[in-house]
Amino acid sequence: MLPVIALVGRPNVGKSTLFNRLTKSRDALVANYAGLTRDRKYGEAEINGRQVLLIDTGGITGDEEGIDAVMAQQSMQAIEEADVVLFLVDCRDGLTPADEMIAQHLRVRAKPTYLVANKVDGVNPDIALAPFYELGIGELFPTTATHGRGVRNLLERVSEALPEQEETEAAEDEGKGVKIAIVGRPNVGKSTLVNRLLGEERVVVFDMPGTTRDSIYINYERNGTPYTIIDTAGVRRRKNVRETVEKFSIIKTLQAINDANVVVLLMDASEGIVDQDLHIMGNVIESGRALVVALNKWDGLDPDHRDYIKKELERRLRFVDFADTHFISALHGTGVGHLYESIEAAYQSATDKLSTNHLTRILQWAVSEHQPPMVHGHRIKLRYAHAGGQNPPVIVIHGNQTDQVPAHYVRYLEKTFRRALDLHGTPVKIEFRGGE
Ligand code: GDP
Ligand code: GDP
Repeated sequence: MLPVIALVGRPNVGKSTLFNRLTKSRDALVANYAGLTRDRKYGEAEINGRQVLLIDTGGITGDEEGIDAVMAQQSMQAIEEADVVLFLVDCRDGLTPADEMIAQHLRVRAKPTYLVANKVDGVNPDIALAPFYELGIGELFPTTATHGRGVRNLLERVSEALPEQEETEAAEDEGKGVKIAIVGRPNVGKSTLVNRLLGEERVVVFDMPGTTRDSIYINYERNGTPYTIIDTAGVRRRKNVRETVEKFSIIKTLQAINDANVVVLLMDASEGIVDQDLHIMGNVIESGRALVVALNKWDGLDPDHRDYIKKELERRLRFVDFADTHFISALHGTGVGHLYESIEAAYQSATDKLSTNHLTRILQWAVSEHQPPMVHGHRIKLRYAHAGGQNPPVIVIHGNQTDQVPAHYVRYLEKTFRRALDLHGTPVKIEFRGGE
């Protein structure tokens, strides 16, 4: 599982500047899905060769009310679930009461925390940094997030504090077969679906001791085929039905998506498609994982409401036209069995072996049907293609001026490859080589 780093601090200290700097170049896949609102608060970054999950917690000031109080609470939960905290302060403003409030909150948590004194440009460090030592947060790192100064030094120390990687591999060894993450906002029916999917199958649960942010991995067989369900709802951890449902954790959801082969995104048809569904969808797309969409609680809906939901799907989820959609009732089991067909198809598509010959032939056909545009008086040349990865399938295209290929043409290529390769349920990622 990815280690989690939370960026904490009051508004305007430079959190999103640092976030953007660290997560740069992770936008490629999402950029090709017009209409996808992306939640900028979560992103993957690479720190000294390790992939990490980075969270910008939004600003905390300590005197939040109303909706801000809810945000602040979510920030607190993110801090709770993070492995490492970067606490940003602003050298120009000096030490403020809000900084002290946040520091107090962080001090009682035994968690690796680094104090990042940002905007050190244009101030005298000897004078500007001194007050921050009073916060008692430990090591202090002066940075200029806008230019990246001091960031490398900070990351080197942070990487030492990240949890060991072995755990991840051990967890992976236990799972055989397709890993299926069941994700969705609270109350859409995840627990009910997990129980339903497991049915009477012979279930071996590896309930690994962990924190609340860890999903449970459930290995089982269905008709002789092994599967692992990544259960973000924590069904099997609850001792009895009356035990309270765990708090929804976006970190847990992101981790599960990241570790899955196929994501089943569950929505509540009785309530319709809401923004939080689309945010989770955005995270799935960004991860490049195979996807199956399931509209749950289809039972008992009147025909008008069903029509309305289908129109909403058309309107709001047009950009994920590659994914199968199912209308199910986890409660009654209706349609649940068919999910496996889509899961299998998506997994096959996401992990197909693609030959250089075949890909190059498709590329040449695509180009002959619809030429790439001219740039600076020269036509962009796309010469050959080969596979560059699985889950999602990555297609690497070589040519000239490939850094000039416009977004609409990339989308055209994606569509053409998906059709020609008969891929279902997985996004395709196109990468180019040979920019000049
Ligand atoms: P956030 O609210 O904590 O996410 O803060 P932002 O990242 O949005 O930054 C707030 C403002 O501070 C922006 O105008 C940034 O360009 C600016 N800023 C961020 N980092 C630095 C820095 O290191 N030096 C200077 N001079 N300005 C910075
Ligand atoms: P979770 O928070 O996503 O794990 O959701 P739960 O599985 O706990 O379900 C939330 C509520 O929705 C429970 O009261 C379920 O009984 C109910 N529910 C789940 N699936 C269905 C369904 O297919 N139809 C109906 N009508 N209710 C459902």
